[in-house]
Amino acid sequence: MRIQIYGAGIAGSFLHILLSRDFKTYVKDVRKEPDCICAWGTIYQEARELYREIGVNFDEYILTRPRHIIINNIMLRNVGFVTFDRRRLLHDLWSQLRFGEKEADIVIDATGYERALLPKVAEDNLYPTIQFLEKHNIEEDVFIYIRRVGYAWAFPLGNHIWHVGAGGKNISITKRLLKDLRRKYEFDNGTGSVCSCRGWVRLLPPSRCKPFIHENIVGVGEAIGCVSSFGEGNIPALRSAQILYESLREDRLEKYEERILREFKWIEMEHKFVNRIQRGRKMAVLHLLPIVLYIESRRVAKPPRDLFRHLMRYLMKR
Ligand SMILES: Cc1cc2nc3c(=O)[nH]c(=O)nc-3n(C[C@H](O)[C@H](O)[C@H](O)COP(=O)(O)OP(=O)(O)OC[C@H]3O[C@@H](n4cnc5c(N)ncnc54)[C@H](O)[C@@H]3O)c2cc1C
Repeated sequence: MRIQIYGAGIAGSFLHILLSRDFKTYVKDVRKEPDCICAWGTIYQEARELYREIGVNFDEYILTRPRHIIINNIMLRNVGFVTFDRRRLLHDLWSQLRFGEKEADIVIDATGYERALLPKVAEDNLYPTIQFLEKHNIEEDVFIYIRRVGYAWAFPLGNHIWHVGAGGKNISITKRLLKDLRRKYEFDNGTGSVCSCRGWVRLLPPSRCKPFIHENIVGVGEAIGCVSSFGEGNIPALRSAQILYESLREDRLEKYEERILREFKWIEMEHKFVNRIQRGRKMAVLHLLPIVLYIESRRVAKPPRDLFRHLMRYLMKR
């Protein structure tokens, strides 16, 4: 079977290496080199195991292991979050890929938020993002500022370099969130921006991004909504690529959609949770909170000791 992948980002490059073991596979990307500054954060254990499958030692790409994750001034103990050199990792992977565009039996849409080949998603939910690489002399923790309409972040990348950015319902909200994050955590005294760019992130769960398969085109990664409602898309992109590889190798593509939906139940849950927060449905938020805490406290950060106090404040707030 001949396979053509479009998009050599996180999902496409990983998938290409897996598929090349069993199939004649080519990949094409609109870029001449991997994009540079998006998505520096991930979950260490999961990334390490996934990349080990293609012979990559993920430890070589780690930049920082922050001690704390500070969300709206609440300090959480980091469990598994690391920042990594995504650009160098993709560069190294690209040197192993077979680039080209050939006739194929299966075409894979790994074009991220673009979803360039599959039919467009009805009522898509793309958040515009802005991000900067900057220098700051600040303790290397992760800083996050979340509102109902979006979020802003500052990730330490080592050597005083920070990835600072925001994503919101529209560009003026995004800018405002970034401004608020800077003020709240004193990120405006940097010694200058190294570079900056804009992007988009799809905040819609897989169940809302169907079809995953259309004629001979199959979607993977962010193209089919494999991104958590907190904007975490690296691990879901890799895991969806792994599932697609297994489905093709076992000649069970008809099970792909079902397997994706089963795997990413946690993403569906988190989207539901954020949706309820956005609509101000406080009791419904409380109902889902234990599940979300259970998921995230194993992967990302331990809840604070004074969680109850923060909950009470949230419930009392108008
Ligand atoms: C600002 C920002 C910060 C983020 N931070 C994080 C983070 O810290 N942690 C995290 O886990 N996730 C983060 N994400 C989400 C994460 O980046 C994505 O969900 C993840 O990269 C999705 O992987 P993918 O392979 O599906 O798509 P991508 O990695 O985006 O790859 C898509 C590829 O397709 C190519 N392409 C596009 N159109 C075409 C076309 N027509 N033909 C051929 N190629 C095409 C692009 O050039 C790109 O190389 C962030 C996203 C943004 C926008």
